[in-house]
Amino acid sequence: MRQKIVAGNWKMNKNFSEAEELLDAIAERLEQYKGDVQLIVCPPSVYLELASDYGEEYPLFVGAQNVSQFVKGAYTGEISAAMLTSMGVTHCIVGHSERRKYFGETDAMIAEKIKSLLSFELTPIYCCGETLEERNQNRHREVVAGQLSEALFHLTEEEMGEVIIAYEPVWAIGTGVNATPQQAQEMHDFIRRFILDKFGNEVANNLSILYGGSCNAQNAKELFSMPDVDGGLIGGASLTVEEFLAIRDSF
Ligand code: PEP
Repeated sequence: MRQKIVAGNWKMNKNFSEAEELLDAIAERLEQYKGDVQLIVCPPSVYLELASDYGEEYPLFVGAQNVSQFVKGAYTGEISAAMLTSMGVTHCIVGHSERRKYFGETDAMIAEKIKSLLSFELTPIYCCGETLEERNQNRHREVVAGQLSEALFHLTEEEMGEVIIAYEPVWAIGTGVNATPQQAQEMHDFIRRFILDKFGNEVANNLSILYGGSCNAQNAKELFSMPDVDGGLIGGASLTVEEFLAIRDSF
């Protein structure tokens, strides 16, 4: 069964007490929640333990924003998949365009990170998406197809069944310009068919494909009404409880 998901990518925002305040506010509202949308928060790594404590008490999943491609050892500054699991983390964003752009992450590195996450039973939220230039050149499908095949096609069917994909056009991230619901649907449908060709019907039908890029409480309803949009990966709008939960309630 395809899961509806709203995940918040806090990026590098909030100090400790602000993080605690936001988690408190989310948790308080989760007490009355009766819906079927899975909520995930992805705070900076230093707050993962704190968030995991909330995850133990409330229906709230916790994701990291990054993981090392290495298993363990002399990799100063890195955090392994095993460490994330041991802290109660369940998900991890991989391949975000900011990591590709500022930290030189390649699809090959991302492929290794995904393998490592899966071997520690963590769910990768794999981000793909084209730049504005690539879209203007009408290369968006080709670019996303390349990202999908390089980062995911080494997986088995069973492993692919554990992955969440986030379609995040780079031109929409943090710009206030979201993809139209039709543009999002067209790409989500493309992604699902591409995954179907490689991994088969069952994996493709059960795959949750999230939309990310300036998604907010005003535009989420229309985006989520599209048949292949199963939720959102939310950046800026996940930083306040009202906006984040209004997005969850847009289904
Ligand atoms: C993101 O960075 O994953 C994202 C979707 O950001 P924003 O919602 O701020 O565009």
